[in-house]
Amino acid sequence: MMKGVIRLNMNEVPYPPPQRIIEAAQRGLSNLNRYTDLEHLEYLRRLLANYAGVSRKHVILSAGSNLLLREVIHLFSKGRKVVMISPSFLPIVEVTKQFAIKSVSIRLSPPDYDLNPEMLMKTVKEPTLILIDNPNNPTGKILLDRETVESLTQNTDIFTVIDEAYYEFSQVTFANLVHDRPNLAITRTMDKAFSLAGARVGYIIAGESFLNAFSSYDPFLPQCSLYAAIEALNNLSYMKRNVRRIIEERERVLRKLDKLGAHVYSSSANFFLMKIELPGIAKRIRDMGVLVSDLSGQLSPGFIRVSVGTPEENDVFLDSYTKILEEDDSRRLFSKNHA
Ligand code: PMP
Repeated sequence: MMKGVIRLNMNEVPYPPPQRIIEAAQRGLSNLNRYTDLEHLEYLRRLLANYAGVSRKHVILSAGSNLLLREVIHLFSKGRKVVMISPSFLPIVEVTKQFAIKSVSIRLSPPDYDLNPEMLMKTVKEPTLILIDNPNNPTGKILLDRETVESLTQNTDIFTVIDEAYYEFSQVTFANLVHDRPNLAITRTMDKAFSLAGARVGYIIAGESFLNAFSSYDPFLPQCSLYAAIEALNNLSYMKRNVRRIIEERERVLRKLDKLGAHVYSSSANFFLMKIELPGIAKRIRDMGVLVSDLSGQLSPGFIRVSVGTPEENDVFLDSYTKILEEDDSRRLFSKNHA
């Protein structure tokens, strides 16, 4: 990692996991000559099933939810149209482009970036795989309600995958529907709220039809990640504290930006979207030592996505933004006086 740089571009949680989790990962490292043992993999599955409120057979593990989404697209795009939301988590958009013969994007539009359920239902008239991140990355918006998920999954020709990577922040989930809906799957990750991005622990909560397709999937997880995840699930208090702190900070930063006249969007995740009508804004903030995600390609010029960091990191971001505004004001004043 570059020293002195503040990373608000990857939606990571800025707080490292507690010592007990680092020690658990170290215990995993001391068996590095061995493949991950099945007994512990099964134990983690049981813990995750319990955490998600589903039975164990519905949980499939993987090194990061990214890989699971990739696998779903690979397995289920054959003979089906793939429907995606635009904008969406970029690597998944790219995988869809790579594998899908036929794909359709439903564009979220300003000012609210909501998903219109009628438009969604109209798009799924033939065998379809539909992928929706909920909350959406990069808008931070919740796009789905229970009624829409229930009507989507009533049709057995439609396979619905809901990406709940930010579930702990939004508290919105459809996981408990998988028992009755074979064609529904939910992907989740421990990389965000659990402070485990470097461990890459992802899982899919899969309805029966997905389970069959995944029957030969190797639930690969390095031993140190496995031990860290087990320890993390055995005591959720630090994760809940992470979520509380991040949400409080997110709201503080949004209020501050709003007062500064910025165009900000409310969010149900650990990041938020904003629009700044200044050319090259992401680069200018980056040049001041704060990395943010440039969305000018995915949305339009001026859009950036900012992850919520520690209060100190967020203050540096706010200071950088204020400085840029001041610089532009004095530049404007200078050109007006010299016109
Ligand atoms: N889905 C979304 C919406 C994400 O934003 C991310 C990570 N940024 C992922 C999936 C991938 O998560 P993981 O770290 O588990 O691969």
